[in-house]
Amino acid sequence: MVKLAEWRGKEVFRKYAVPLPRGAVARSPAEARSLVDSAAVPTPCVVKAQVLAGGRGKGGAVRFADTAAQAEEATRAILGMEFKGEKVKEVLLEEKLPIARELYVSLTLDRSLRLPILMVSAQGGVEIESVAEGGLVKIPVHPFIGLAGYERRQAVSALGLSGAAAKSLDRLLSSLWRLFDEEDAELVEINPLAVVGDSLVALDAKVIIEDDASFRHPEYAEVRDDRTPLEEIAREKDIAFVQLDGNIGVIANGAGLTMATLDVLQQSGGRPGVFLDLGGTDDPKKVTEAFLLMAMAKPKAVFLNIFGGVTRCDTVANGLVAAMSQVPEGERFPLVARIRGNNEAEGTQILERAGVASLKGLKESVEKVVALANAGAPLAGPA
Ligand code: GDP
Ligand code: MN
Repeated sequence: MVKLAEWRGKEVFRKYAVPLPRGAVARSPAEARSLVDSAAVPTPCVVKAQVLAGGRGKGGAVRFADTAAQAEEATRAILGMEFKGEKVKEVLLEEKLPIARELYVSLTLDRSLRLPILMVSAQGGVEIESVAEGGLVKIPVHPFIGLAGYERRQAVSALGLSGAAAKSLDRLLSSLWRLFDEEDAELVEINPLAVVGDSLVALDAKVIIEDDASFRHPEYAEVRDDRTPLEEIAREKDIAFVQLDGNIGVIANGAGLTMATLDVLQQSGGRPGVFLDLGGTDDPKKVTEAFLLMAMAKPKAVFLNIFGGVTRCDTVANGLVAAMSQVPEGERFPLVARIRGNNEAEGTQILERAGVASLKGLKESVEKVVALANAGAPLAGPA
């Protein structure tokens, strides 16, 4: 999932001729001041924190300014904020428009209908979750035909628009559909879509690009910033790897076993951190790579919980043993291994020869790894 910050979303809007306020991005108070001084941003203006979380309006992350000095001041205040856990590094300055009405428009995928869906509401400017069911009109869209004329007119009438504003929405919806389709978006949302005189202007932009289409959109590669550097490496190696806050690393195979292992650790007083799903592989090299990646995440202890099926126990054991000699001194961690299933005897033997015992029971393994992590045991194994 590639979530675009508002200003990036608006750049995509511009490409599809969605009407926008005039504006520019600033990364320092002085830059904000000079944008207004040079008239790149007209006054009065709006100064908006560029963070991925919503609710900025209510949270004091959207401010107004009448002069360059006020814009500088507002930028200083906003850049100093941490908004919902995210440091604000840039602001968007835009001309402040006189809003007659605030509307809501979005295109997204409806997973139960398995179709794209257009949603519109006359109650824009508030979080859409707070709008009552009746206040939101949903129009499913045929993915091959696209947003048809009658569907756009249905939206126009649901929003009570006529004349030039109606034409403006019709055009905007065509643009929005093209954007959604051609950019492989999972969500395109405008909230609020403002009625300004006779025309409509997108005051906010929320655009999420579908990850599975990333090969078609190298232009979004640099904004894929919701992944940690290690998650990025894992992705390149095609390893399912997620970093959480805890200190226990989990290596398991299959999403079901991996999730269940996290649950059991949590219930036993452990704090699972990194987890890594080996999936189905018969390549010990991939297992080795996975282990080295785990070591880079510096967990306090690692629980290897494998059920041998497609991924045989001996494959995992061989991959693990190969990895052990390659883990740098400072990145070694205590390991608790439990490998059961296909070729269990061979796998257990390979591990034992390398000095790692494979435990049979889930409970004893979990207790051991939780104790190791909580005790902050010295970085002993694997070695
Ligand atoms: P969000 O709260 O994070 O979704 O941020 P928005 O971009 O939606 O901005 C929040 C609110 O600021 C909007 O609902 C508007 O009421 C207000 N706002 C944003 N831009 C303008 C503008 O150009 N003129 C006026 N009058 N209000 C604006
Ligand atoms: Mn908004």
